Amino acid sequence: MSTILIVEDEFAISQVLKVYLEKVGYQIVQCYNGSEALPMFHEHQPHLVLLDIMLPDKNGWMILKEIRQQSSCPVIMLTALGEVDDRLAGFDQGADDYITKPFVADEMVARVKAVLRRSQGNEQASFIKQFGQLEIDTRAHTVYLKGQEVVLTPRDLSVLLFLAEYPNQTFTREQLIEHVWGWEYDGSDRAVDLAIKRLRKALMNWDIREGEIKTLRGLGYQLSVTKK
Ligand code: CA
Repeated sequence: MSTILIVEDEFAISQVLKVYLEKVGYQIVQCYNGSEALPMFHEHQPHLVLLDIMLPDKNGWMILKEIRQQSSCPVIMLTALGEVDDRLAGFDQGADDYITKPFVADEMVARVKAVLRRSQGNEQASFIKQFGQLEIDTRAHTVYLKGQEVVLTPRDLSVLLFLAEYPNQTFTREQLIEHVWGWEYDGSDRAVDLAIKRLRKALMNWDIREGEIKTLRGLGYQLSVTKK
């Protein structure tokens, strides 16, 4: 369930927003002044903020700026009719959309849904590492090569996921052991070499022009890719 923070000093407007958004399944947190907006943003970590511009103690633009310095959480500005210049300024400062007051409830809900869908789509995409025809989903823990699933042991998969997080960076055996096997591991470095060997075999059909697991003699291993 997505949480939405409403920052709006007019109680009646805030309530209308809350009622309609709750009706479609969102969880609502309300804030009625500017100075509490940021603390509440931190406390509730909302998925979206509806932010009024004219607040008694702190301007909505200032709050937007502060949110943007620390988060890419989507923000929809609530503007009064006729504040056209404000809207343009909003996009410059990183607002995702605006809703003009007075608003039509259905349209307001549609805008919120659209912005959330877009931001969650981006989030989803960042979990998928695509290197040419090799696709690694770091959340679902799946690997596809040319559309076919590559089945790996959990450990080999962890090695590949780690290398895929940092393409074209070289890691020593010790670093790989530390990150993948963990500190407690007291076996031999050879476990790394064997995992790499199995991974290479599993990715045998990967086009070398797109990438490969490279050995850098004396240094370690890297997932070397040309296409990101
Ligand atoms: Ca206001």
